[in-house]
Amino acid sequence: MRYAIALDVGGTGMKAALMGADGGLLHQARRPTRREDGPQAVTAAVLDFAAELRRVGVERYGEEPAAAGVAVPGIVDEVDGQVAYAANLGWRDLPLRDLLEERLAGVRVALGHDVRAGGLAEGRLGAGAGVDRFLFVPLGTGIAGAIGIDGRVEAGAHGGAGEIGHVIVRPDGPLCGCGARGCLEALASASAVGRAWAAASGDPTAGAADAARAVAAGDPRAAAVWADAVDALAAGLVTAVRLLDPRMVIVGGGLAEAGDVLFRPLRDAVADRVRFQRLPSIVPAALGDAAGCLGAGLLAWDLLSVEVTTP
Ligand SMILES: [Zn+2]
Repeated sequence: MRYAIALDVGGTGMKAALMGADGGLLHQARRPTRREDGPQAVTAAVLDFAAELRRVGVERYGEEPAAAGVAVPGIVDEVDGQVAYAANLGWRDLPLRDLLEERLAGVRVALGHDVRAGGLAEGRLGAGAGVDRFLFVPLGTGIAGAIGIDGRVEAGAHGGAGEIGHVIVRPDGPLCGCGARGCLEALASASAVGRAWAAASGDPTAGAADAARAVAAGDPRAAAVWADAVDALAAGLVTAVRLLDPRMVIVGGGLAEAGDVLFRPLRDAVADRVRFQRLPSIVPAALGDAAGCLGAGLLAWDLLSVEVTTP
């Protein structure tokens, strides 16, 4: 039985699976990234996990994995197989694909960016299945984007395409982790909304989900925090709409779990700002936090030109 290794490396944990050529998940596992032990420990954790998945596959199916797909955060050059920069894992110029291929004894490896891999999965198996042009925007700790075009995701010349989180929507706005002011990520990520609601509510433990609940319950302070984030998000999305003219915008991540509390005002705010273009549909992501791992599996099969379109 042919199978591929799918591995999604996140800031704190890794999600992995063995994926059949039909897109089905045969075996799933999770592990911590060991970020607290430094960049080399993270690299070792990734390589060990990949080797363990290969061992499980060989034991179960009696053959080597057909290929492996590994999705990682940061600036990822998918062509060179290098992680140029991953701030949260401490990586810089890491030739991760070569290291993985060596550890997996020659199994071919596709290295991908986590959000672009997630977008690939949403575009083939999830909310955007069959949609020729979409933008996938997960609103989590940060904000990134994946530009889907005809079944693939645009990586850019240097692996940096889709970074909508660092589009500046308010030049005098709050400081972003990247050093600029007023980035979309600093205003409308789940973390940013959580911070704003913690400050407004006086509860330092409050997060974005609490803010959404307070909005639904009619709390005017929460409504103000929410409206501010929705306004910033609409500004960022309209920039993307003007540039890309997507048919669909797929919004995922923690903030999208608010459902209609987010989507109703967001659709209105985008419609208010678009002057002359056709509006894209704005829909919730369908695959949740499995998207990155599924996308990693798709990257592996793509390497072998095996077309996986339905789960
Ligand atoms: Zn920024």
